[in-house]
Amino acid sequence: MFKSSLTIMKISGIPIRLHISFLVILPFFAFVIGSNINDIALLANVNPDNLGLNPYWLGLIMAILLFSSVVMHELSHSLVARSRGIEIKNITLMLLGGVAQLEDDNMPPRDETFMAFAGPLFSLVFGVLLLFVLRPLTGYINPDYSLVVYYLGYINIFLAFFNLLPAFPSDGGRILRSLIASRTSYLRATQIATAIGKAFAFIFGIIGLLYGQIILVLIAFFIYIGASQEYKMNQLRDAFSDFTVADLMTEDVVTVNENIKVQELLELMIREKHTGYPVVNDQGEITGCVTMEDTDKIEAKDKKLKNISEIMSCDIITVRPDESLFDAFVKMSKSDIGRLMVMDNGEMVGILTRSDVMKAYRLKLIQQKSME
Ligand SMILES: [Zn+2]
Repeated sequence: MFKSSLTIMKISGIPIRLHISFLVILPFFAFVIGSNINDIALLANVNPDNLGLNPYWLGLIMAILLFSSVVMHELSHSLVARSRGIEIKNITLMLLGGVAQLEDDNMPPRDETFMAFAGPLFSLVFGVLLLFVLRPLTGYINPDYSLVVYYLGYINIFLAFFNLLPAFPSDGGRILRSLIASRTSYLRATQIATAIGKAFAFIFGIIGLLYGQIILVLIAFFIYIGASQEYKMNQLRDAFSDFTVADLMTEDVVTVNENIKVQELLELMIREKHTGYPVVNDQGEITGCVTMEDTDKIEAKDKKLKNISEIMSCDIITVRPDESLFDAFVKMSKSDIGRLMVMDNGEMVGILTRSDVMKAYRLKLIQQKSME
């Protein structure tokens, strides 16, 4: 999902990445802040005429500091998550704010509450320190400096409160879900939080459109999409959590030798009614897999001449038979590969295809129907 990102630095081992949209969004913020510098200065009790720097330079500095604040906010989430044993893959700064990518986002509700609180708590404390301690202490001697500290303090306090709104999947929304989850199932809690999140998205969207606030409309859009995705993911997690890979994999896998001709493979596909096979070498070791799509890589006249080793795709992703089906599903989606090899102690014991996984989803639906 975040392939279009660039790692800019690492903080306590966590890669901080910039999404490509950032190339547009940073100058945009710098421009918006720069254009409104007079209003901001008046709010900050600074006479705009006394500012030394060009408004757009100030805008750029403030925009960079704004996003640095977002990184620190996300870092607070991440460090708390890590202290509770959850690994953090990276923090990605995106179009709006940041996203901390967790290795495993399925954590106990209590841990999730702590983690969700950490970000806004940091933003609030940092903002209050800037506004009420640093600014008065360091005086108002330099107007540019005074303005930047004021803005940064204000924006951090805003970040704290905005993130605490229960607009799931925001921080506040996650806290709300944990609270609801203590009374009902996690899936039901996610469903309720999602509905509330979407309601917020509509309200933000309407306000944004009425007052011409594009950023608010974008936020509304992202909350809506985020809430829907999160719910869908939880639904799948719920459906797949009862199964292991071994429950649904296809055993007795037919393999093909890498030295057979493409024509022979096509005949085998017709005979066996399978469209994909693991490929083995003469020693019986798996070297890749070959699917119907791979056969399109060569011209029809070459089908009797070329070996399948020339067309097979070599990406093999493996799973263990005792792995949960949800983990296998995540691997499948991330790598965009429709077939996983099931390996046990170096030996292939089965194959798990996308349709095997979807079978589990249907089984779960039938199970639910039978209980109604
Ligand atoms: Zn947050």
